[in-house]
Amino acid sequence: MRLVDTHCHLNFPDFENDLDEVIERAENSGVERIIVPGIDIPGSRRAVELAGKYPGVFAAVGIHPHSADKVSADDIEELRRMVTGGERIVAIGEIGLDNYRKYSDPGKQRDLFSGCIDLAREMDIPVIVHCRQAEKDVLEILKSRKSDFLKGVVHCFSGGADFLKEILDLGFFVSFAGSITYPGASEQRKVASLVPSERLLLETDSPYITAQPKRGKRNEPAFIKYLALAYSDMFGISAEEIAENTSRNADSLFRLALAERGTISYKIRDSLYINLTHRCTNRCGFCARDVSDHVRGHNLRLGREPDAREIISEIGDPTGYDEIVFCGFGEPTLRSGVIKKVAAYVKENGGRVRLTTNGEGDLISGRNLPLELKGLVDRVSISLNAPDARTHNRICSPVFGEAAFEAVILFIKECRQQGIDVEVTCLDFIGEDAVKSCRKIAENNGARFRLRYLDVVG
Ligand code: SF4
Repeated sequence: MRLVDTHCHLNFPDFENDLDEVIERAENSGVERIIVPGIDIPGSRRAVELAGKYPGVFAAVGIHPHSADKVSADDIEELRRMVTGGERIVAIGEIGLDNYRKYSDPGKQRDLFSGCIDLAREMDIPVIVHCRQAEKDVLEILKSRKSDFLKGVVHCFSGGADFLKEILDLGFFVSFAGSITYPGASEQRKVASLVPSERLLLETDSPYITAQPKRGKRNEPAFIKYLALAYSDMFGISAEEIAENTSRNADSLFRLALAERGTISYKIRDSLYINLTHRCTNRCGFCARDVSDHVRGHNLRLGREPDAREIISEIGDPTGYDEIVFCGFGEPTLRSGVIKKVAAYVKENGGRVRLTTNGEGDLISGRNLPLELKGLVDRVSISLNAPDARTHNRICSPVFGEAAFEAVILFIKECRQQGIDVEVTCLDFIGEDAVKSCRKIAENNGARFRLRYLDVVG
């Protein structure tokens, strides 16, 4: 039986003294993946640290509504820095609203929750939502920000059937904690039995809410099997099937790559292309990834995003190639931390680096990214594809809306200011006049211009 614990606070002091043993017991019980959410900045950092140390552990970064009163203006920026610079971060969480304990002002909770959701949309990663007696407000905020970019789970679900229906209608997943196994939880089990199998996840919420067979003890990921057994009784299918379905769901929502597929690097002519991500801040109507998983025979649909170490090992000697090209089935600057680490390796070893991008790196990182790429990146290819903000918004559907276009122009300028060679590209289908205008924008900003043809990649 392979299992995924999608919510487990291994970053809490409760696990300080025996974490290795806890993880070993989890592995011996078939737990292949564990997601560790952060509830504040130090806890999020610890989650990222654990994800770097244990192969089966992934991190989520977030700030719990209980801490909303203490949040500073820089905290969401810090979460952004963690996601863009870090590795194996699969969600923004634990975030949400809590009107039960009300440890923080409700208005500040709403602001924090909304800010964290906006960040998740920008980063194109899911959210892990805590909702305690705040169903109406949670729905209102989720609905106001609903888009293709927003996916997530309501964890430790405690709402009724109506709330469940609304959450499922938004495309969200649901998970229940160990309390569902308690003798007095028949109402909760009734609600759980309404969840379609393709929307259910398993979680322990360790160290809390231990399932009935171990009730009274500290919870840990090895106990997730008791949840699978409880659902097996509820749905009348085997615990193995529950484990398989929920693991597949977790894989799909958090992109954990239980199946580990997708090509990290591939050669076109004499350049080596590095496939960093398939997340993107745009939804271009012409995007190749909407048509096929393959480019030039390579499966680019990554299950798990590669880390810097893996990429460096794929590159080997960079002088064996004309260029190392950061690309992706998505937007590479979503992983600027990895770009900087790998590019530093390539430059130290005599190679050349090119970045292909949608030009939204400043908006994504919240910084002047070209300043940080100076000396690391030789060439940048920026897709413009539109002569003005409105057309850009229509063709590329950026999560940043019309603000994206000006940011792309600024990115071109900033790259030039840092001495980076810039090529602005445009697809032929936008029409002759639009192509002319894009060429002019490129030339006015000291960049070269290249017309590209739809369906020709590389
Ligand atoms: S910017 Fe590139 S990867 Fe992103 S949606 Fe557009 S074509 Fe696809």
